[in-house]
Amino acid sequence: MFSSLSGSSRVFGIIGHPVRHTLSPVMQNTALQACGLDGVFVPFDVQSERLFEAVAGLRALGISGVNVTIPHKTAVIAHLDRLDESAEAAGAVNTICNEEGRLVGYNTDGDGLVRSLSEEFAFTPENSTVVIIGAGGAARGAAAAICRAGARRITIANRSRDKATALVEAMGGRYPETVLAVADYGEQLIPILREADLVVNSTSLGMNGEVIAGLDLKALNRNAVVYDMVYAPPVTPLLREAGQMGLRHANGLGMLAAQGELAFRIWTGSLPPPGLMKRVLAGISAP
Ligand code: NAP
Repeated sequence: MFSSLSGSSRVFGIIGHPVRHTLSPVMQNTALQACGLDGVFVPFDVQSERLFEAVAGLRALGISGVNVTIPHKTAVIAHLDRLDESAEAAGAVNTICNEEGRLVGYNTDGDGLVRSLSEEFAFTPENSTVVIIGAGGAARGAAAAICRAGARRITIANRSRDKATALVEAMGGRYPETVLAVADYGEQLIPILREADLVVNSTSLGMNGEVIAGLDLKALNRNAVVYDMVYAPPVTPLLREAGQMGLRHANGLGMLAAQGELAFRIWTGSLPPPGLMKRVLAGISAP
């Protein structure tokens, strides 16, 4: 692909620190090639203290768009010209698009989750009752997207209750159609789980084999979906338990692919071939 690069090729990338293990370049470059687009996607390792310079560099170099990852998703907001509703509601940016010199911030993480739920389970949040475990950046993007998709009720359970309360307060005014509430892990969550159509783990628990204490899947009804944003390892203790109970379940690989597809569409106006990004990711992360 590099031999076809020219002065008119578009440049995309990802900024974060570290970015050594990012899966985005292979996923995005495969999609650019599959769509026959003249462009390239490059990882940029940017330390926090150089974020301002990096964003100025995007403008100066005419970079067409970048993904933004840890630790810059919130800090980058101050350096952009405008935020899309998705980024404003999430309070975080994972995609920047250079729109005729103006840098616009988007957040495709939450919509990626909604897209993945639709593709994997034909699940739509409209009128649904949802429990989100965690209240960090990923939870906030997920809650906003699930509200936009028409959920009836979302309950947030988080180790630090104050963060769950802050998330609910941030969402409440913005999406009045959805009832948002906070619950503690354990007994308080059980009646809420009985009513739930979807449970999403948005914490990092499971990455190192941790169980989510106080989340009793036995309370769920048989049709509920269990979604774990963690994708490495592919089967977390939460997903193993959901599988043993016969519940529909998935890891976060589909969300990772879908947020990439949505960023690709923002930059190029087209979606990659269906399933391509997920197949690429599955190929890389296969043991
Ligand atoms: P974050 O902002 O740092 O939030 C971390 C969350 O995990 C907080 O709710 C935190 O609770 C909770 N947590 C961490 N350690 C815990 C523990 N020992 N016990 C209980 N709760 C704990 O991180 P994030 O950006 O939201 O990301 C969270 C996870 O989602 C990560 O695993 C990330 O890889 C994954 N993710 C996946 C995708 C995807 O495309 N699949 C996209 C985005 C994120 P406290 O508030 O109490 O600290």
